[in-house]
Amino acid sequence: MYNARRLALLAPLAALPLLVSGCTSDSGTEDGTVDVMASFYPLEFIAEQVGGDRVDVRSVTPPGAEPHDVELSPAQVARIDGADLMLYLSGFQPAVDDAVAQTSPGHVVDAASDTTLLAADEHHEDETAEEHQEHDHGELDPHFWLDPSRMPAVVDDVATALSEIDPEGADTYAANAAALNQRFEDLDAAYAAGLQQCGSRTFVTSHDAFGYLADRYDLDQVGISGIDPDAEPSPARLAEVKDIVRDEGVSTIFFESLVSPKVAQTLAADLGIDAAVLDPLEGVTEPDADYFSVAEANLDALRMALSCS
Ligand SMILES: [Zn+2]
Repeated sequence: MYNARRLALLAPLAALPLLVSGCTSDSGTEDGTVDVMASFYPLEFIAEQVGGDRVDVRSVTPPGAEPHDVELSPAQVARIDGADLMLYLSGFQPAVDDAVAQTSPGHVVDAASDTTLLAADEHHEDETAEEHQEHDHGELDPHFWLDPSRMPAVVDDVATALSEIDPEGADTYAANAAALNQRFEDLDAAYAAGLQQCGSRTFVTSHDAFGYLADRYDLDQVGISGIDPDAEPSPARLAEVKDIVRDEGVSTIFFESLVSPKVAQTLAADLGIDAAVLDPLEGVTEPDADYFSVAEANLDALRMALSCS
């Protein structure tokens, strides 16, 4: 099998497309592609877009899983160790941080080094020290990918790493990166224009994933459960959110696709207002969806909720 593949590589170029499409090997470099491990969806998406056919990208967070508290199997840790490139965001997924520290992939790109992460929102005023320690263990807010203007720096870093691993692909990676960065710039412009004239600038979300988006487009995020989607909001926090909704005339409470919408939907029903999806892009659940289609749906949902013209 291995010898046959070696022979096939020497065959005329016309045979190559067949060879590539017929390859279902999981072992990355054996078929000549660059083996990339990404820690969760937005980074996986960047690697796929920049790498194209030259890379084989896998994510340590299964599709549809919530990435914050992902746990890794020994096999996944071994795959990280054997990867040509490990792409992750330090401070976001503790199990991934541990795995990166224990292994030695060929190259490591830490997206946290490509952007200046903002401090996590100040903890809610009513919470106890204990509650604070539970949910606010990270000092920095990881959710930078929801501000498209922060993505090109990561794209460029990935293109540079892939070009070091696979110098023959350097022109392809540079061209793919430029095209992808143009799409992020266009999306940023669409957000800026679409969120400029709005009846309200306050939006309520189930967890504090949208701080960078709010920061970029001058909106005010009210998160029900803090940075960690699994934290249960206290009754005092729920009362506080209800007050904000009434005071600001908030029309909609947003929930997300990867965590239970129960708290947000109950709150919306109590208040007699709408509940709608705002996707933190921590994973993609629909087969045809990608970063851009979800980001565009988010923009539509925000414009509707905030009465933007
Ligand atoms: Zn999150």
